[in-house]
This record gives sequence, C-alpha cells and structure tokens, in this order.
Amino acid sequence: MGAYQHILLAVDYSGHGDTVGRKAKGLAEKYQAKLSIIHVLDNIPMPDTTYGTVIPLTEDSGYELLEAEKAKLMRIGDQLGVAQAKRWMVWGSPKHEIALLAEREQVDLIVVGSHGRHGLSLLLGSTANSVLHYAGCDVMAVRLQDD
Ligand code: AMP
Repeated sequence: MGAYQHILLAVDYSGHGDTVGRKAKGLAEKYQAKLSIIHVLDNIPMPDTTYGTVIPLTEDSGYELLEAEKAKLMRIGDQLGVAQAKRWMVWGSPKHEIALLAEREQVDLIVVGSHGRHGLSLLLGSTANSVLHYAGCDVMAVRLQDD
C-alpha cells in the first residue's frame, strides 16, 4: 500500500461516527496526509438559495435545519482537527457526491463506515458498497458493530 496524501472521511452523524473518524484521523497522521470531511444532505429539503449544491459553511443561511447540520459538521471537524477549507457539506445523493468530491479534490483514500448487512438491507445496498462502485480511488470500509 503506497502512502496516501489526501484522505476523505464521509460522516453521517450516526453514533458510530467516532470509530470511523478515529480510523481516518489515525491514517492521516500515519501517512502525514491531508484530511477532509464530507457530509451529504439527502434528507432535508433544499431551501431556495442562490448557491448550488456545495453549501458554504461560513455564511448564515438563515435556515434553521441547515444551520444545525452545519454545526454538527463543524463539531466533528473541530474534534478531528480538520482545516476549515477541508470541511464539505453538499446536497445530493451520498454515493455520488462522495465520489465526485473525492475526484475533484484529488483524494486518494475515502473512509466510510460499513454495517454487516443481511436481508432486505443487503438487497438495497449500502453507502459503502455504492461509494466503492463509483469512486476512482481506494476506499476503506470500517466495519461497524450493529446494535
Ligand atoms: P450506511 O450504508 O447508510 O449505513 O452508511 C455507511 C457509511 O456511509 C457511514 O458510516 C458514512 O461513512 C457514510 N455515509 C452514509 N450516509 C452519509 C451521508 N449522508 N453523508 C456522508 N457520508 C455518509
């Protein structure tokens, strides 16, 4: 495995996020790589704003739900020591947007969590599987323990 230079951590704000975050940060330290984080908004309606799908984190949108989502990303960014310019919030479908940002930002490793799946959820597929399918770089799936 060659040295990674830019690692992208995909965060979904679930309770398992810490485990995945620690893994990504550990890898970034090991390889002295840049660390970026992304959260994709796929569950709140997009307000009528002038900006596109990448949401500026430094200006107040005046939209309460969105500001709450931003605050969560900021908290994780602070905990992991991620540079302000490497924090991304995007509207859309996680599987596409994570892979797209990775390509645009020349990421060479994406880190996501992965649940052991069975039954219907296995058929529906996971974000980790989809990212693996769409990404042009390496993907690390951190196995999460299901409750
Ligand atoms: P899931 O397959 O939905 O259980 O998600 C597994 C992993 O995909 C999570 O641990 C995150 O790393 C990533 N992920 C899921 N949803 C999102 C999202 N909306 N934004 C960013 N990453 C996500």
